[in-house]
Amino acid sequence: MPFGNTHNKLKMNYSGEQEFPDLSQHNNHMAKVLTPEMYAQLRDKETPSGFTLDDVIQTGVDNPGHPFIMTVGCVAGDEETYEVFRDLLDPIIEDRHGGYKPDDKHKTDLEPENLQVRTLATRLAGGPFPRPGLTFRPRWQGGDDLDPNYVLSSRVRTGRSVRSFCLPPHCSRGERRAIEDLSVQSLDALDGDLKGHYYALKNMTEEEQQQLIDDHFLFDKPVSPLLLASGMARDWPDGRGIWHNDNKTFLVWVNEEDHLRVISMQKGGNMREVFTRFCTGLTKIESLFKERGHEFMWNEHLGYVLTCPSNLGTGLRAGVHVKLPNLSKHELFGEVLKRLRLQKRGTGGVDTAAVGGVFDISNADRLGFSEVELVQMVVDGVNLLVDMEKRLESGDAIDDLMPEQK
Ligand code: ADP
Ligand code: MG
Repeated sequence: MPFGNTHNKLKMNYSGEQEFPDLSQHNNHMAKVLTPEMYAQLRDKETPSGFTLDDVIQTGVDNPGHPFIMTVGCVAGDEETYEVFRDLLDPIIEDRHGGYKPDDKHKTDLEPENLQVRTLATRLAGGPFPRPGLTFRPRWQGGDDLDPNYVLSSRVRTGRSVRSFCLPPHCSRGERRAIEDLSVQSLDALDGDLKGHYYALKNMTEEEQQQLIDDHFLFDKPVSPLLLASGMARDWPDGRGIWHNDNKTFLVWVNEEDHLRVISMQKGGNMREVFTRFCTGLTKIESLFKERGHEFMWNEHLGYVLTCPSNLGTGLRAGVHVKLPNLSKHELFGEVLKRLRLQKRGTGGVDTAAVGGVFDISNADRLGFSEVELVQMVVDGVNLLVDMEKRLESGDAIDDLMPEQK
């Protein structure tokens, strides 16, 4: 497993220049920002738990690029990483999150009633969250109307980190098991339609695990080089598992890339229902952890603090699996997604390509927009993509449906 000897103290016998990684073939945010001078300045710093600059950047050094997405190329090992290595991380965050500045404040909105019904004109208009003339809360709410003939499933996920524990790239076996115990105790207290059970990876058969992966419920095995090189896969499968309710519409991953990944999903296009369950469940989980004396890592600037800088803020990825066989072949597909602030993936996860014109389409942003704003962007954007797909299906042009830059 390519995990570096980043705690080697003898490295300080060499100059910053002698230790500087070869980033000449790299295309990730870290490689764009890290200079030899910055490296020399930060390389002997460490967080109180002992996370070093080399730990932060190792995944980006070992993974020059990614075939489908622009990666960040670094990770946090604890909450303090973002402070101690801010000279590197602030510009990366700014780059990755559309100009988000070191003194910007993040907003949280986990009220699903704030989702709105939008006209086509609003969906096409510029700006990320236009509310032309809307000064009152609409009588009926948006987000429940994604066409199920195209939208196969809807999902919202986020991550949460438990304060005062190291994050997965750096946590010890004891810490990881403590998080697992705490998670199981807390989640076991959920009731009603959220009531469920915990399934530890090490108690599952190979077949059970593979079935959950194939059904899109469980994280993949640690095959991603991004994950391996960050140190997150150490001791696999110890301390990892999945908790889910009986009908697998509310799921929590324990100790994968983040301490917790909280997921709400179901078949079809009712994103409002998915988001409502997500908000209710997440809020309950937060208070169950608080009752046990643990809060989540959060601050005004970064929002929820997670392992990958790409997930700061809301940590929210709202997405659908959607059939776009015609639009995805259209020369403007990439441009349309960019203007709608959406991202595409294959349906097998971040490391897969789309098969048969079915894509995972989700919000590209995490930070600087609230949860509601991001879900709204996905709902509006996917509705428009489906409109475009229908046009192309019947041989018509889509020019008048081109959105402005959100
Ligand atoms: P994440 O952002 O949650 O880490 P990944 O791209 O790694 O997402 O995918 C994790 C799993 O979730 C994969 O099995 C993927 O197929 C599944 N998944 C993602 N979005 C959806 C969706 N809208 N419907 C069904 N499954 C999904
Ligand atoms: Mg993932």
